[in-house]
Amino acid sequence: MSGGAGTRIATTSLCGCFGCHMSLLDIDLRILELAELVEFSRSPINDIKTIEGRVAVGLIEGGVADEENVEVLREFRRKCDVLVSVGDCAISGGIPALRNMIPLSECLEEAYLNGPSTVNESGEIPNDPEIPLLLNQVLPAHEVVKIDYYLPGCPPPADTLWTALVALLSGKPLDLPYELLKYD
Ligand code: SF4
Repeated sequence: MSGGAGTRIATTSLCGCFGCHMSLLDIDLRILELAELVEFSRSPINDIKTIEGRVAVGLIEGGVADEENVEVLREFRRKCDVLVSVGDCAISGGIPALRNMIPLSECLEEAYLNGPSTVNESGEIPNDPEIPLLLNQVLPAHEVVKIDYYLPGCPPPADTLWTALVALLSGKPLDLPYELLKYD
C-alpha cells in the first residue's frame, strides 16, 4: 500500500450499528500496517471527533436519519478527496430506512407514547433543542452528497474493505473482483 506520511483516512457512523466499523477492525493485523501508513483522522476507532486538514479517503457507514447526520456527511464531502459509502445502510438506507414506510409522527408516538413497554409520565415526545431533528425519511448518503464508490454488504467483508483501501490509497481505480462483492 502506498499512502505515506500525512495521508489521512476518516470514518464515521451516521445512522448505523457500527457493524461496518467492526468489519474494518476484522482486517486483524493488517490494521497495524494501515496505522503505519496512514493517519486516522476523525473516526469512532480513535474517538477523534474533528477533521483537520485534507483527508484522502472517507468511509461513511449508516443512513442519513437526522440533521446532524446531514451536517457530518457534508463535512466529510468537503474535506475528503474520495468518499465511499460502506455497507447497505449508507448505500440504500438499510435497516434504519424501514421506518420510511410509516409516517415519522406515528414512529415517534409508538416509541414515546403508545408502545406496549413505554413508560412516559410527561406524555410528551422529547423535543429538546439539543436532540438532532429527525428527517422525515432515512436517506442513502448519495441523496445528500456525491459519493465516489460503494461497497455493498451488511457489513462488507474485511477483505473487501482492505482491498478497497489499498487501491484507493494507491491512487488506483476501485475495480474489485467478483469474489469480494458477491453474497450468494
Ligand atoms: S450495513 Fe449492516 S453492519 Fe453496516 S451499519 Fe448497516 S446494519 Fe450495521
